Amino acid sequence: MSRHEINHVAITPVAFTDPPLLNAVGVHEPLALRAIVEVHTASGLIGLGETYGDAGHLELLTKAADAVKGASPFDVGRLWSVISGVLDGTASGSRTGLMGPETSGKTIGSVVAPFDSAFYDLQGQILGEPVWSVLGGKHRDKVDFSAYLFYKWATHPGAEEDRWGQALDPAGIVRQAQKMVDEYGFKSLKLKGGVFAPEQEADAIEALRDAFPSLPLRVDPNGAWSVETSVRIGKRLGEALEYYEDPTMGLEGMSEVARRTGIPMATNMCVVETGHIPEAIRLNSVQVILIDQHYWGGFRPSLNLAALSKVFGIGVSMHSNSHLGISLAGMVHLGAATENLTYALDTHWPWKDPSEDIVSTADFQFADGAIRVPDKPGLGVELDREALGRLHEKYLSSSIRTRNDTGYMQSIEPGYEYVAPRW
Ligand SMILES: [Mg+2]
Repeated sequence: MSRHEINHVAITPVAFTDPPLLNAVGVHEPLALRAIVEVHTASGLIGLGETYGDAGHLELLTKAADAVKGASPFDVGRLWSVISGVLDGTASGSRTGLMGPETSGKTIGSVVAPFDSAFYDLQGQILGEPVWSVLGGKHRDKVDFSAYLFYKWATHPGAEEDRWGQALDPAGIVRQAQKMVDEYGFKSLKLKGGVFAPEQEADAIEALRDAFPSLPLRVDPNGAWSVETSVRIGKRLGEALEYYEDPTMGLEGMSEVARRTGIPMATNMCVVETGHIPEAIRLNSVQVILIDQHYWGGFRPSLNLAALSKVFGIGVSMHSNSHLGISLAGMVHLGAATENLTYALDTHWPWKDPSEDIVSTADFQFADGAIRVPDKPGLGVELDREALGRLHEKYLSSSIRTRNDTGYMQSIEPGYEYVAPRW
């Protein structure tokens, strides 16, 4: 029996303030949900993971928590088989509000992930080494992030205007980009599209290109466009894009857009589990895969995916959802340990209220669009119990239990319907 045997797991759902960010399925609700997973050892250590906080996901996490008791933090390679065993066919259907197909593989990966994070955090603490070191060493001293621009309202209905203000046209997007670049120093820009007519969104990309001629640009319409629309806009934007993220749904459509435009196609929607990879390779559907420790099963499976991408000459970037500091720390460690991470990582970090978190992120500050890779043992973040209690209270006092961007939009604009492709 390991002295560091897992003897307790705590799962705490939390809610934090989120601005009205528009996307292809609706608009972000006033609160975003996360679950904080604490894995305790008999030796008194605590490993941390952060994941989705939706009600259906919490149920699966609870089952997984029982299954990992008695394990050693070094049993991380067995997490997938142990956890998928107890989920026993319940891991299907949408449980996280993420866009794109919710396959059972993706769901299992999203349940395994916070435990993988906590186990590596524990390994690092036991060994006195940062997580990137336990994962095999770092390939860089700082990890670059991209600005993640959104069309947005000035405010949630009835609330005060947030510090970012309104962005509903190309000028608003350029203003938002300027503020983000000024404050964080980002050297890449990504626009979340699929909100307005594709021509208007192409105008916004061209306005960004004119305002920031040296910065690489990406657009991500989340599959809101048909193949024909994706090809038309792709041909117009051509060289302006470093990659074209999920303009259309599905491997066949992505393959056709790639062939007809010659622009590298990126995805976090049509390749979301290993089972999708053979067909994606056969069709040459994607040239960049966005890894994400939160649904690929954690750090090790994400590194495996990056290694597989290298075999096939596919580039690697990183996906993001609204997140707190444990996720940010994990993204930095994984980003440091991934040899072929060829693009700046996505992050929703600037959209968060800096006063709201469940850990101190003093060692994870942005400078010149990047975060310096830290040297403290484990993930390098420690739970602030008082802050965790506050955000848990916020969760308890709200009625949101599952992310529902479409339902929230319909409560404001009753005629709104989710259609894909919309254009
Ligand atoms: Mg995406």
